Amino acid sequence: MSLSKPLSVLAIPAFADNYLWLIHDDVHAAIVDPGDAGPVLDVLRERKLTLTAILLTHHHADHVGGVPSLLAHGKVPVYGPHNPAIAGITHPLAEGDSFTVPELGLAMSVLEVPGHTLDHIAYVAAETGWLFCGDTMFAGGCGRLFEGSPAQMAASLAKLTALPDQTAVYCAHEYTLSNLKFAREVEPGNEVLLARITAEQKKREQNQATVPTFISLEKSTNPFLRYTEPAILDRLTSIGRLSTREAIPAFAALREWKNAYR
Ligand SMILES: [Zn+2]
Repeated sequence: MSLSKPLSVLAIPAFADNYLWLIHDDVHAAIVDPGDAGPVLDVLRERKLTLTAILLTHHHADHVGGVPSLLAHGKVPVYGPHNPAIAGITHPLAEGDSFTVPELGLAMSVLEVPGHTLDHIAYVAAETGWLFCGDTMFAGGCGRLFEGSPAQMAASLAKLTALPDQTAVYCAHEYTLSNLKFAREVEPGNEVLLARITAEQKKREQNQATVPTFISLEKSTNPFLRYTEPAILDRLTSIGRLSTREAIPAFAALREWKNAYR
């Protein structure tokens, strides 16, 4: 099925480093993870767009905080995880569910990606090659494990990396440079990573977003997708953080190192 109108995705910056993603066709719009309503309402007004849906990835306030104010401006369907703690969800979703974003005609399928939180889901628009993954995969990194286990997060990231290489990854924060600084510490011999750091630094100097990223680029540079690489296992072992060659302990050791890294 081809789309009737071209769709685009707009980054709405919020708080210190969040991106709220607005999918629109110049008439209608859907917002992903509106942690704050103010900047979303401003963009809708400036661009004369009508909000037709809200998509939520997980329960954290910087992802759902703006929902009540947006609904006060007009009732729209709210898609999100099966989590009664999130107010306003009209369409609770689980692994394998799919739906079409109202008025935009964009088909979305749902992946459950526990790890950062247990309720975390991600949205895949296969037709356009877009992934909205909240705080699961970041450019050069992954979300902190607030609720899930290392094994859960590793499995969730594996689901995302199974998507086509050219999939654009719309994660929810601009954490790229600090993530890549850590990645270089983990894998100093990765030439693709070193080239990426130069390219991303240039974007930030020009005040450009480094997101979306792409699955292919993440596979070649993101240590949280590369934790079974011999060079990374050797590195973790040499600094005393790992004493096996097993994958999940390696992932856990990497995540703990990142938590402590400044
Ligand atoms: Zn979060």
